Amino acid sequence: MFLSRPELIKKEIFEIAEYVPGKSIEEIASAYGLDPGSITKLGSNENPLGPSSKAIQALVDTAPCANIYPSADARELREALSKYTGFPVSNLIASGPGMDGLLDGICRLVIEKGDEVIVPTPTFAYYELPARACGGKPVFVRRNQDFSLDPKKILEAESSRTKIIFLCSPNNPSGNLLPEDDLRKILENTRALVFVDEAYVEFADRNLAGLVREYDNLVIGRTFSKVFGLAGLRLGYGIMPEWLAKEYIRAATPFSVSLPALKAGVAALSDTEHLRKSIEVVRKGREYLEEKIPFKVYPSQANFMLVDVAPLKAKAVTQSLMKKGIIVRSCDSFREAGDTLIRVTVGTPDQNEKVVRAFETVKSEV
Ligand SMILES: *Cc1c(COP(=O)(O)O)cnc(C)c1O
Repeated sequence: MFLSRPELIKKEIFEIAEYVPGKSIEEIASAYGLDPGSITKLGSNENPLGPSSKAIQALVDTAPCANIYPSADARELREALSKYTGFPVSNLIASGPGMDGLLDGICRLVIEKGDEVIVPTPTFAYYELPARACGGKPVFVRRNQDFSLDPKKILEAESSRTKIIFLCSPNNPSGNLLPEDDLRKILENTRALVFVDEAYVEFADRNLAGLVREYDNLVIGRTFSKVFGLAGLRLGYGIMPEWLAKEYIRAATPFSVSLPALKAGVAALSDTEHLRKSIEVVRKGREYLEEKIPFKVYPSQANFMLVDVAPLKAKAVTQSLMKKGIIVRSCDSFREAGDTLIRVTVGTPDQNEKVVRAFETVKSEV
């Protein structure tokens, strides 16, 4: 009786590889018979301090208004973002669910069947998903050994069908920044839209958003999921030229930012003390982890460290850590990342110590 009608589904959808998220506490607790309270989650780059208390209060305060539609264009949040970023409201788009929602919105605005997008690998795995869903084809360009990219190779990969170039700074999972000169070279020599994902930019020394004032083909993606500790609310935003923001709004779902997310976002932006502390914890933790993890650790400008456990395998080491109740992210599901890389979120000092000890134990066991 349970028939299916796959012929109703667009062909492109079958090309989409399953998105592999970091493991949850519940999964690991049940897989290894552990007490959920004893598990340290350092696999998804969440803020170990939790959300700002002001954001939590905003969520409580908005609960009784859940029957009311939010503003269609998240005006109040965009005004707060205008103060935070220095850009006028006309350059800002707020998006739910998360920056992923912004990526969806941009793809559905520009990608037609047969178009191409350029993705320098290894990088964040989501970009190809909305592109494929719109009928687009990802063209992968390998990064250099140190995860920097070669603007010439990116530009050589461009065809008459290229619509978007996806760049990420700091890059996930490698933690390195895109140099401004490289971005300028790309912006000046492409007809495509360039999307720069700055999900982790608050932890970094530099950002690239200022270039939106100079180039009409640059979009910056940002999120409340990382430094602001609101991953569960699914809130992101974009900084883009005014002409593009106008068209974006035309194509996007109205009310995409829920009322609780909107109010919590505004509150989070006002809590500069929580923001400062969240950045400080990461900066100190990065130094500690880079020094103490007994494997090769790449320098990072984000809230995670990339660890190369060679000659061990990432999957095996990740599993041993999970058995000890520590969740980290094996990077073998990232395209072109090989099978020896593990991404570790920077946690509280206690959590960092735990993960270092666990790595030491794993190393001593071989
Ligand atoms: C976490 C992450 C995002 C997604 O952010 P959401 O706002 O939670 O959708 C985007 N890009 C990169 C590189 C990320 O690591």
